[in-house]
Amino acid sequence: MRIAVIGAGPAGVRAVETLVAAGHRPVWIDEAREGGGRIYQRPPQSLRRDARMLYGFEARKAEGVHATFERLAPVVDWRPETLVWHIRPQARRLSTQHQGRTQATVDYDAAILCTGAMDRVVPVPGWTLPGVTTMGAAQIALKTQGCSIGARVAFVGTGPLLYLVAYQYAKAGVTVAAVVDTTPFATKFAAAPGLLRGGATFVKGIYYIGWLRAHGVRVVEGATPVAINGTTDVQGLRWRGSDGREDLVACDAVGMGWGLKPEAQLADLAGVPFRFEPLQHSWIPECDTSGRTPVEGHYLAGDGAAIGGADVAELAGARAALALLQDAGQSVDAVRVAALDRALAGQQRFRIALERAFPYPAALAASVADETLLCRCEGLTAGELRAAAREDHDVGPAPEMNRAKAFTRVGMGRCQGRVCGPAAAEVLAASLGRDVASIGRLRGQSPVKPMPMLVPEATP
Ligand SMILES: Cc1cc2nc3c(=O)[nH]c(=O)nc-3n(C[C@H](O)[C@H](O)[C@H](O)COP(=O)(O)OP(=O)(O)OC[C@H]3O[C@@H](n4cnc5c(N)ncnc54)[C@H](O)[C@@H]3O)c2cc1C
Repeated sequence: MRIAVIGAGPAGVRAVETLVAAGHRPVWIDEAREGGGRIYQRPPQSLRRDARMLYGFEARKAEGVHATFERLAPVVDWRPETLVWHIRPQARRLSTQHQGRTQATVDYDAAILCTGAMDRVVPVPGWTLPGVTTMGAAQIALKTQGCSIGARVAFVGTGPLLYLVAYQYAKAGVTVAAVVDTTPFATKFAAAPGLLRGGATFVKGIYYIGWLRAHGVRVVEGATPVAINGTTDVQGLRWRGSDGREDLVACDAVGMGWGLKPEAQLADLAGVPFRFEPLQHSWIPECDTSGRTPVEGHYLAGDGAAIGGADVAELAGARAALALLQDAGQSVDAVRVAALDRALAGQQRFRIALERAFPYPAALAASVADETLLCRCEGLTAGELRAAAREDHDVGPAPEMNRAKAFTRVGMGRCQGRVCGPAAAEVLAASLGRDVASIGRLRGQSPVKPMPMLVPEATP
């Protein structure tokens, strides 16, 4: 049986481990050079550092995932630095590009998509200045290159990553100018009983916040970002506090992010239906708790299915592989299946509390100022999208996201709406006076990420 696993993060590693243990040799593809995924991303060989320094409290888990990856890569058809840019579910064929140069197709009978997540951003005036990155990009720079995005960095957004990345920067010796959280303390406090279920993860979160405060880092909660100041580079971050007063810190770089959203374009192209998940305030591909999608032979695991974190990803990867084996008629260990299902259900309760503690600021996204750049690939402002919601385009105003895309080009550029999509949906929904779930989502298109055009070499 030809099995393809896309992604070598925690979910992909555990999926492949389970498949190999059952006697399979899957094709395993990742656009990264090595396994580990986002959380356990590895620096290039020349920049390798001690695991404890790189992954902090997660060092042991990182080493476990890396060691499993090292053991598996030689015994499967491992294809590093290979982007899967298209999937054809009827033909069961993947289109791939290796190192931006070589094209290949991979035929499969069953596929597990473990494609992870990416940051969710809310446009703020000045967010396209050089020196502004997403929270994840700021972390990747530090983790893989040992670089800071600036000498004096401010972080704005919400979610566990906000505090974790600020802590990692401060620990690395960077001056953290401020941590500006858009969620009020009261919201987090109200979610505390559920957060306690997170055990060590919850304690670590409290530790990061306490450490930042104890080391004199300014932490602001319940803030509304006003602007990132600067004309050619970042000069400062401005926000309005919960008391309505404006405040400013000087900084030369800003990391921003409001949680994560699934990287689910391949699932979309595979024909998996999506549903709006109100708690994550996000469109997520449909699958059951074992990762089975309604499209036969296609399974999802990890953050690419729904944001759950690295521990959930490891469990879900193994579970999806077992579902695949079951569907292929192979016998699987029922005790292990039950244990995985129980563990996943337990984690789900903590996840619900996390989502309640750090909600996506939909109202903030919906109220982006008219002149603020919304879709940076196409240079489209929030006001231009609002106009599309009002104007009569012969067929009436843009009634949903894909029509708005046709009218305005929102989400039509290099990022294909991966960056601007969530905020654009809020802007359009608010303009139409409708619920965001009712205006749809930008459909996935191939190539799922920007890729070089390959020009055949001229024959002499
Ligand atoms: C930038 C970033 C930083 C994060 N940092 C932390 C952190 O410090 N602590 C924490 O607890 N959580 C962090 N998270 C969340 C955490 O990474 C995830 O919860 C966890 O890694 C999920 O594991 P996964 O296997 O589902 O996905 P990932 O670990 O994201 O792995 C997905 C893999 O799929 C590959 N991939 C995706 N699409 C394609 C494609 N089309 N073709 C080929 N390969 C593809 C990617 O290269 C990646 O290696 C971070 C997330 C992001 C996005």
